[in-house]
Amino acid sequence: MVARAARATDLADLDAEVSDCFACPRLVRWREEVARTRRAAFREQEYWGRPVPGFGAVDARIAILGLAPAAHGGNRTGRIFTGDRSGDVLFAALHRAGLANQPTSIAADDGLTLRDTRIFSAVRCAPPDNKPTPEERDTCAPWLHREVALIRPTLRVVVALGAFAWTAWWPVLHQVYGQRPPSPRPRFGHGAHWSGTAAPELLGCYHVSQQNTFTGRLTPEMLDDVFGRAKQLAGVD
Ligand code: SF4
Repeated sequence: MVARAARATDLADLDAEVSDCFACPRLVRWREEVARTRRAAFREQEYWGRPVPGFGAVDARIAILGLAPAAHGGNRTGRIFTGDRSGDVLFAALHRAGLANQPTSIAADDGLTLRDTRIFSAVRCAPPDNKPTPEERDTCAPWLHREVALIRPTLRVVVALGAFAWTAWWPVLHQVYGQRPPSPRPRFGHGAHWSGTAAPELLGCYHVSQQNTFTGRLTPEMLDDVFGRAKQLAGVD
């Protein structure tokens, strides 16, 4: 796994390698079972049912780090945050911020492109109940580390969506930037900001899950503030 990730010389290579990963037995079973049984509304569609690679600009200054693909979103369409309510909220906000060319993300061939931004998740396969185990997170980490290494020359800001992504960032500091993570670790919160010396700025943002957006815990205005701040810190117009 570590060797396979390290072998990838560019993002296209990495995307191909990660799409063919079978390292976590529980997640492989789950992603394939969901793809086989399908949700009634998508019965006629063929699910992707595999790990979901990152998406967006190869020269991204801003990275958005999520938890894992959704069972009937990314696991269905093959593109992260695509085809589910979380993606509706996220891409509408990115479009308002001028970072996406359209406000919707429906299917992998819908023409969506991102500017200065790349989106990926800490765990690349859809987990049951959206809850990967710590072991699965650690097994998947080399894919994340390699993806960050490949965009390191341009990357300036990372927006961590939720506490899981925030926690997954600290090993990246060590593995990719050779920097010792701060101790104690800064706590996750919406609007939290951590600044390293040689690493990208880290911003915390509540996850764009329905649990947060339907209840008003995370509003469109709050997302606009986070992406506005990310753009400012990254030097994106
Ligand atoms: S979660 Fe990551 S490491 Fe595990 S099977 Fe999926 S891509 Fe591979």
